[in-house]
Amino acid sequence: MTLSLGIDFGTSGARGVVIDEEGRILSQMRHCWHVETVDWVTCWQQALWSLLGQIPGVFRKEIGAIAINGTSSTILLTDETGKPVDAPLLYNDSRGAMALERLTAIAPPNHTVLSATSSLAKLLWMQELPTFTKARYLLHQADWLGFLLHGKLGISDYHNALKLGYDVEKLQYPAWLQQLQIPLNLPQVFPPGIPIGELLPQIVADFGFKADCLVVAGTTDSIAAFLASGAKFPGEAVTSLGSTLVLKLLSRHRVEDARYGIYSHRLGDLWLTGGASNTGGAVLKKFFSDVDLVRLSAEIDPTQASMLDYYPLLQPGDRFPVNDPHLLPKLEPRPNQNQEFLHGLLEGMARIETRGYELLQNLGADSLTHIYTSGGGAVNSTWTAIRQRYLKVPIVSSINTEAAYGTALLAMGRINLE
Ligand code: ADP
Repeated sequence: MTLSLGIDFGTSGARGVVIDEEGRILSQMRHCWHVETVDWVTCWQQALWSLLGQIPGVFRKEIGAIAINGTSSTILLTDETGKPVDAPLLYNDSRGAMALERLTAIAPPNHTVLSATSSLAKLLWMQELPTFTKARYLLHQADWLGFLLHGKLGISDYHNALKLGYDVEKLQYPAWLQQLQIPLNLPQVFPPGIPIGELLPQIVADFGFKADCLVVAGTTDSIAAFLASGAKFPGEAVTSLGSTLVLKLLSRHRVEDARYGIYSHRLGDLWLTGGASNTGGAVLKKFFSDVDLVRLSAEIDPTQASMLDYYPLLQPGDRFPVNDPHLLPKLEPRPNQNQEFLHGLLEGMARIETRGYELLQNLGADSLTHIYTSGGGAVNSTWTAIRQRYLKVPIVSSINTEAAYGTALLAMGRINLE
C-alpha cells in the first residue's frame, strides 16, 4: 500500500494528513505558531520537521509522495544556497502598494498582479531592500518548503505563480513581466502535483522515509481546500462560509474581472473561477456568540422569507458581487427579536451568495449544478435551508474541508492538473 502525505501551511499553523490509496485518512498532525512570530523562516522549518516527526513510523516508510501548500502570495528571497536573505513577506502584507504605480504602467489593465498584496507588487517592494543584492531566487512559501525536502531551487507551481504574473493559460512568463528585468531567478513553473524530485537522503535517514519517496509540485491553501471538498466537475462550486464569504465555481471557461476581484486559477483543463465578498461570519460574530447562533437559528422558520433587506458588512465597502468601495452596511431596521435580526442577516448573505454565482455565470462560467459548503457557517442547517431557497441547486457538505487533505490528494496523483 502506497500512502501520500499532504502538508498545509495556513495562517495560524501547519497541518499534515496521511492518506491511503482510497483517500482514507490514516494519520493527522498539527503544529501551531504565534501570529506575532518574528522569525518566520525558522518557525516554518520547525513546523515542517515537527509534522514529519509526528507521523507514526509505520506510515513514514510507506509514504510514496509528499505535497505542500502554502498561503498564496507569501514570498521570500534566498541566496544561491536557498538561505533566506531577509524576512519573508506574508500573504496579507500590503507594503507592495508602493510599487503599484510602476506596475500599473506595464501590466495589462485589471491584471491580478495589480493589488498591493500580489507577489509581484511585493517583489518590486523587496527590490529596494539593501539585502536584495544578495538575492538569487524568489520563492513562494510552498516552493521554499518543497526545496527543504527535495533540495531543488527555483521551482514553483502554476497556482502559486498566478499572482506573480505568470501566464497560466500560455504557461510562460509574459513579455511585459520580462521587461521589468528583475535581476534574479523567477521560479520555473510546473503543474501542481508533478514530481519534482526524491526526498533528500538526509531526511530519509533522519525520519525513516522510503528512499524513493517523491516530492511533487505544490499549490495554495485555498485551492487545496477546494480539492478537499470533492467538487470536480464543471458547474460544481464551493462556498466558504468563514469570516468572509468566498465562492469558487469550477468551469470550462476562464473568467477574469479585476473590477470585482474575480479571477480564475487553472485546474488542469478546467478553470476555478471565484470571488470573495466582505460579508460573512465576521458580521454574525459581531452580534452573536457561536452558542447564540445555534440557539437562535433553531427558532427561525427558513421556509419563510424575512422582510428585512440587509447587506451585512462590518465596515463600508465591498468588491464582489457589488463593486463599491463606499457601499454602506445595511443592517437597519433592527427588530426587537434577535432571531428575526439573525434571520435577516442570514437571508441577506444568501442573497449576496446568489448574486455572486449569478455574476460568475454572467461573465461566462459554467452553470451552477451543486454547491459544496465549508467554513464555520456550513454546520447551520437553517442557513443551508435559506440558501437552498435562493440558490435552487443542491447544497451538500464538503467531503473534507482541510487544505492538508486536498494537498494529500494532489500528492497521490488523484487529481491530474497537467
Ligand atoms: P475563518 O474564515 O476565520 O477560518 P471559520 O471557517 O472558522 O472562519 O468560521 C468562523 C465563522 O463561523 C465565525 O465568524 C462565526 O460567526 C461563524 N459561525 C460559527 N458557528 C456558526 C453557526 N452555527 N452558524 C453560522 N455561522 C457560524
